[in-house]
Amino acid sequence: MRGAVIHAPGDVRFETLDDPRILHPTDAIIRTAVTCVCGSDLWPYRGLETIGDPHPMGHEYVGFVEEVGSEVTSVKPGQFVVGSFATSDNTCANCRNGWQSNCLHREFMST
Ligand SMILES: [Zn+2]
Repeated sequence: MRGAVIHAPGDVRFETLDDPRILHPTDAIIRTAVTCVCGSDLWPYRGLETIGDPHPMGHEYVGFVEEVGSEVTSVKPGQFVVGSFATSDNTCANCRNGWQSNCLHREFMST
């Protein structure tokens, strides 16, 4: 697949990356339809946040579910979904109280 990779402040390249794979039974693979730059992407781009090794960037997107792990029950292949900078399970206390961005089981995108 192709994706944006930040190498240094002001240095973002469109590169070939490994195709995504289901690593955990709770994973889903999404074929992005539309993405955008998040304000938090601008911190490293402007040199205000350490970049370290080159890494994929971007974490705001919509797209279609391509594949799901064996424990995924809330989405299915072909479904159109809206993503966020972090996952949420909608089952923990934080999610049930409307605070999905601080899910107790969250994982961040672009890692
Ligand atoms: Zn949760």
